[in-house]
Amino acid sequence: MSQAVHIPFDNLYVTLDERLFSHRHPTPVKQPGLIRVNDPLARLLGIDPQALQSAEGVNILAGNAVAEGSQPIATVYAGHQFGSWNPQLGDGRAILLGEVIGSDGLRYDVQLKGAGETPYSRMGDGRSPLGPVLREYIVSEAMYALGVPTTRALAAVTTGERVARDDIFPGAILTRVARSHIRVGTFQFFGAREDWEAVRTLADHVIERHYPHISGSTAPYLELLQTVVERQAQLIAQWQSIGFIHGVMNTDNMLVGGETVDFGPCAFMESYDPRTVFSSIDRQGRYAYANQPGIAHWNLAWLAQSLLPLLHPDEKTALELAGQALNVFPDLYNQHYTRLMCKKLGFEEPGEEPRALMIEFLTLLQQESLDFTLSFRVLADYLGSEEPAAGSVGELYPLPFTLNDWLGRWRDELGVASMDSNQLQTLRQQLQSTNPVFLPRNHRVEEAIQAGNRGDFGPFHKLVDLLTKPFDFDPDHSEYIFPAKPEEAVTRTFCGT
Ligand code: AMP
Ligand code: MG
Repeated sequence: MSQAVHIPFDNLYVTLDERLFSHRHPTPVKQPGLIRVNDPLARLLGIDPQALQSAEGVNILAGNAVAEGSQPIATVYAGHQFGSWNPQLGDGRAILLGEVIGSDGLRYDVQLKGAGETPYSRMGDGRSPLGPVLREYIVSEAMYALGVPTTRALAAVTTGERVARDDIFPGAILTRVARSHIRVGTFQFFGAREDWEAVRTLADHVIERHYPHISGSTAPYLELLQTVVERQAQLIAQWQSIGFIHGVMNTDNMLVGGETVDFGPCAFMESYDPRTVFSSIDRQGRYAYANQPGIAHWNLAWLAQSLLPLLHPDEKTALELAGQALNVFPDLYNQHYTRLMCKKLGFEEPGEEPRALMIEFLTLLQQESLDFTLSFRVLADYLGSEEPAAGSVGELYPLPFTLNDWLGRWRDELGVASMDSNQLQTLRQQLQSTNPVFLPRNHRVEEAIQAGNRGDFGPFHKLVDLLTKPFDFDPDHSEYIFPAKPEEAVTRTFCGT
């Protein structure tokens, strides 16, 4: 028996100012079909996952029915895409159904991505092929499980329609959940038009929604900028620490709430090389792994630019304040990055020696073309001076002997020789809960997409299930830990458009 679907909408953005969005209903699709509902996330949002899987639920997820309490809108924004200013973007294929207060007390957007044309569709069809929907579901949920702030996937459905890109693909819709979808580009849209009233409305909303601790401040907009700078420094350091390459860090793909958004041409680095780029449209390598912190800093400068008149009535003073807020980014980022990377080696305090060992380790990984993720993970199996134990990840992915000297100095610095077995075990567990063993490796994501295009969602479900526990090694699925073999390697990923 299917129950009535109840989504406890409590919409705020739609009440703010008509300049921020357009009212727009999703366009119904031919034949909605359920791929997956994210049960724990549905429960967090106060939605019965069973009901969401009913025919009525699937109709809502496909945009064929509008849930009670939903006030569907498409939001407007602008942005710098690959460095070039685009004054008019917006939700071209996404429709915000409304917001829900989760059982954690936080406000969440519930948005359909691929739900049809909007006033911001430009030349696009407002639709999404299945592949990008599956990729976003897999990678965003993996990021969540890895502890990285991210938008999430509540559901994926097929549309029964075909979507034309460089080929013809099945159509699909993702239900995306975010703390908000307010982007640097949202501020830019109004800042570029010198619509400071709208900028202020937006800034007040972001403070109330994401950073309520600022609301009593004497300089709330400066604190807003400082806080977003801090959040992004932390976020990008987390990306770097797991080898995540976003691929399309345009200012419209950076959320002021500090969550990762837009899993278009993203991928995880395998053999360590800071110059790694995946996106097929990133020909200059603008968004290469090593460039991500610098690009985030650049994007934040555009946020600052859009906030200037709110920072101080005197332009020169406003520029000085913005400059000071921005200038701390590299140091903040480095602090977070160094702390996270040293923790991956088992050091709680990122002192001089741990830092030197970290840099040397990365150099060795690059020289030996070793897998970034596995090389850190197997360190837990090298705490003793003997070989990794039978059945361990280290046995499956042994480090080459060229690392022996480094391993010796690493153990000395950790002081493993003087640890008792309990202390060693604690350290081993700490390393294993910091360094994931399962990631959405590019060839596995590709495999899930190819199968999905043939109507087989088995590999997709298997990957999603496995990635809910990225730190727990399950020997039954050991084939998922490995990087791509040369013939499987995915060297280019394509945008979701
Ligand atoms: P993205 O590259 O996904 O960040 O998208 C950049 C801009 O293009 C955004 O304003 C999107 O809403 C818009 N867009 C992307 N794909 C489509 C599509 N299929 N139909 C309409 N608009 C789209
Ligand atoms: Mg985008």
